[in-house]
Amino acid sequence: MTDPAARRLLLVHAHPDDESINNGATMARYAAEGAGVTLVTCTLGEEGEVIPAALAHLAADREDRLGAHRAGELAAAMRELGVTDHRFLGGPGRFRDSGMMGLPQNDRENAFWHAQTDTAAAHLVAVVREVRPQVLVTYDPHGGYGHPDHIQAHRVATRAAELAGDGGFRPDLGAPHTIAKIYWNRVPRSVAEEGFARLRAAGDVFPGVASVGDVPGVVDDAEITAEVDGTAYAERKAAAMRAHATQIAVDGPFFALSNDLGQPLLTTEYYQLVHGTSGAPAGVRETDLFAGTVA
Ligand SMILES: [Zn+2]
Repeated sequence: MTDPAARRLLLVHAHPDDESINNGATMARYAAEGAGVTLVTCTLGEEGEVIPAALAHLAADREDRLGAHRAGELAAAMRELGVTDHRFLGGPGRFRDSGMMGLPQNDRENAFWHAQTDTAAAHLVAVVREVRPQVLVTYDPHGGYGHPDHIQAHRVATRAAELAGDGGFRPDLGAPHTIAKIYWNRVPRSVAEEGFARLRAAGDVFPGVASVGDVPGVVDDAEITAEVDGTAYAERKAAAMRAHATQIAVDGPFFALSNDLGQPLLTTEYYQLVHGTSGAPAGVRETDLFAGTVA
């Protein structure tokens, strides 16, 4: 598609901060090029651990006010990326962060993990039929790394894409819309390994160094079908990640989550096309997620 203004990208994420870590450069690039960029975040991230000691009182096991604070962090991150359309699935607080797999928080009545897939998906169908994206980005069926909310975000996004195109499903939510291309967030194993080598060579950036296995979505290079060069948007991505100050510590081309283990901050972002037709020749990675789509 050649008309940038006709391009519409929808990203579905579990918690505030996932979008900036996974897709910050992609979002900044498409927004700068005039595409419509819509982010749907499924929870407020209420169960996150808090990095800055001065904000530790917000955590779920103390004042339980982290969700509202993280909504503010997300808004600040979107300003850095130039993205104006960001929403919470079903409205802020409709679905609560389920916490890490196996915790009692998984079983809360309003935990996203417990949401009925079609019920949660209906909220997203309304967004799909309104925005009418050609491209959807979400996680793989394992949620990239097994967090219940990431697995559920995958299920809900996948189901919503099916239901949005089905004219018999909830006609009150708008005219049917079929999404042309669906991608999963990925990191090529070679890129992750090279990034960790750079981090180890840089010395004591953070108290420890994470491992390739800690990075969500790492797969063999051959699985990658698209790469978006966000080099020109590296500063914006880093600024968006810094806006999530309760969750992320950024140091140059590296960052750490609350476990204090350093990881490389990637400004080329990688994807696997799982639905639709690649706009690149066989065996060649796409460099534009909209390649081959029509308005
Ligand atoms: Zn997350």
